Amino acid sequence: MTLKQFTFNPFGVNGFVLGNDSGDAILIDPSASNEREEAALSDYLEKSGLSVKRLLNTHLHLDHVLGNAFAARTYGVAPEAHEEDAFLLDLQEEQSQMFGLPLREPSPALGNYLAEGDTVEIPGIRLQVIHVAGHSPGGLAFYCEKPGTVNGQEDVPPLLFAGDILFAGSRGRSDLFGGDEEALVSGIKSKLLTLPGETVVFPGHGPMTTIASEKRWY
Ligand SMILES: [Zn+2]
Ligand SMILES: [Zn+2]
Repeated sequence: MTLKQFTFNPFGVNGFVLGNDSGDAILIDPSASNEREEAALSDYLEKSGLSVKRLLNTHLHLDHVLGNAFAARTYGVAPEAHEEDAFLLDLQEEQSQMFGLPLREPSPALGNYLAEGDTVEIPGIRLQVIHVAGHSPGGLAFYCEKPGTVNGQEDVPPLLFAGDILFAGSRGRSDLFGGDEEALVSGIKSKLLTLPGETVVFPGHGPMTTIASEKRWY
């Protein structure tokens, strides 16, 4: 598979494009907030010969859904996320005011709900859906247990796209809409820190880390 990370919008959200050998792609939080960022995403997809099949959101805070309208319109896909975060799409204007993030075009409604234990699959790429509430009620992490060859590198360890649940050296805040510190910590401990230590974690903001290096904080 191929893996490309983009860091978009004033909040520095990490978005990802996962591509397979047949030219299918999964987008995770492609939160482009202006024409330059939209062009960076669409140019990459075009040059790589990738066609978008799925649009996943780790959660529905505004900074993570800013590119949903563009991606949905351009690639004919609907966003997918956890049902318990769906209320946040009704609060995009409020979030825009609160975070000081301009809202150019609201995200369309979810086309599919993802829940704990679901898998999102395109040929050659299989993501397991892990639900950890606490940063937002419907926070999701996507776990790729066997990525195989990634960007030409063989035998890559498992990958975890952690959204704002887990960051390098910290975790997401729990004082926003529906946040819950206790649920967040217990979800991280029981569902994320139990993954193999070599798992490479791609958080929704900031640098990569591994499960082994985050374990020491808990
Ligand atoms: Zn968030
Ligand atoms: Zn965020």
